[in-house]
Amino acid sequence: MSIADNIKNLKKETGQIGVTLLAVSKTKPITDIQEAYDAGQRLFGENIVQELVDKQPQLPTDIEWHLIGHLQTNKVKYIAPFISMIQSVDSIKLLQEINKHALKANRVIDCLLQVYIADEETKFGLGFDEVIELLRSEEFAALKNVRIRGLMGIATNTDSEKQIKEEYYELKTFFEGVKLSFFRKDDAFDTVSMGMSSDYKLAIEQGSTMVRLGSTIFGGRAKKTV
Ligand SMILES: *Cc1c(COP(=O)(O)O)cnc(C)c1O
Repeated sequence: MSIADNIKNLKKETGQIGVTLLAVSKTKPITDIQEAYDAGQRLFGENIVQELVDKQPQLPTDIEWHLIGHLQTNKVKYIAPFISMIQSVDSIKLLQEINKHALKANRVIDCLLQVYIADEETKFGLGFDEVIELLRSEEFAALKNVRIRGLMGIATNTDSEKQIKEEYYELKTFFEGVKLSFFRKDDAFDTVSMGMSSDYKLAIEQGSTMVRLGSTIFGGRAKKTV
């Protein structure tokens, strides 16, 4: 099936149940992204700052770009003027840097806290206790140009459906707790970004509100970039 067909089918599948579809276009050429755009897709995700900064000016301005890969503090300035959401916030230092450049650009930048849920040492993210510590801190309270919209997690790369389900269940349950404790009156804290091509159906069963799909839409990538 074509990229356009994939977008149409996946938008229907996710839209019916109120799940947001993020098209992960990393390593894919402009023409592929344009095809998805022409089929109605507006939310795209990239994981490398340089690649995102190269692609963004070549594509329609109403695309909402999400950064989903590890972000170094010294690169925040390149994306702060246009990024719609940074899903990979994993420290207060990074959040402070995002806030600084958002202020310079006269914007408020939406962010997700990336939570470490996988059973793999290679993955980035905050532990559950670190999320709580960050949200309780005075440093966080001082930030006016970032808005925390929710949590993002990447499950273990495993064939065990049981394990993936448990990890997503934990993230969703943790999200509900954080919402009650810190964002009870904040309707904007509404996003649980979980689910990739291999496991998005499981993630949706466990209460995902946003799935991040790359290969299911655009086909496989030449080399593994996660
Ligand atoms: C690459 C990537 C995805 C999409 O992966 P697919 O398996 O191609 O759907 C989702 N989330 C993150 C954080 C990624 O880096």
